[in-house]
Amino acid sequence: MRIVLLGAPGAGKGTYARLLSEKYKIPHISTGDLLRQAIKEHTALGAKSKPFMDQGRLVPDEVVLRPLKKRLGEPDARNGFLLDGYPRNIHQADTLAALEKIDKVISFEVSLPVIMERIGGRRTCEKCASIFHVKNMPVKVEGVCDKCGGRVYQRKDETPLALEIRLETYKKETSPLVEYYAQKGMLMRVNADYPIEKVNLIIDPIISELNKIR
Ligand code: ADP
Repeated sequence: MRIVLLGAPGAGKGTYARLLSEKYKIPHISTGDLLRQAIKEHTALGAKSKPFMDQGRLVPDEVVLRPLKKRLGEPDARNGFLLDGYPRNIHQADTLAALEKIDKVISFEVSLPVIMERIGGRRTCEKCASIFHVKNMPVKVEGVCDKCGGRVYQRKDETPLALEIRLETYKKETSPLVEYYAQKGMLMRVNADYPIEKVNLIIDPIISELNKIR
């Protein structure tokens, strides 16, 4: 069950990936999380990625490929994965096709006001990368992650300017992938403007079906 989650920032890819990962026991692999982890650990990869990420731009393809390849090679990814944040342009999609056989691509489609509302209120756990929202999914204790007790913070690329660049980058570089995967017959579109539970009701049966075929 090798699934790619596609969608603009704020579409909810990370949230659904975590839910599905728990339910189907396949890892959630997020290139954004891998890169943020590298920054936290002050590695060379982190140092290379940080200026791009802070601005809301894409990290160069060859830079992001290295940690991704390593992660896909780990034993828990052998039975499948939910890939979130990769590919982000056509070149990355071609690279991925040469590395793995992808079963399905789910495209989460959201409208701009919903994106702004979700990202503006988003809070992320520094330690386990869980995502919360000040209104839609608040933490129980202010500033503290419900899952692991880590510090919950607002990402640097969630300021209005960085967000604007991220959305532009998405439109220009990533959104052509919808057509790319549609032409290959791999795409499923989901309206992700709805609340989490409702979107979950739409995607869960699809994943469940794929899980049976596996
Ligand atoms: P979101 O999906 O909310 O935009 P992510 O956590 O997926 O956030 O990504 C955050 C940042 O990490 C991106 O803006 C980009 O700078 C970098 N990044 C993540 N994945 C990739 C990728 N596949 N290619 C290039 N840059 C990436």
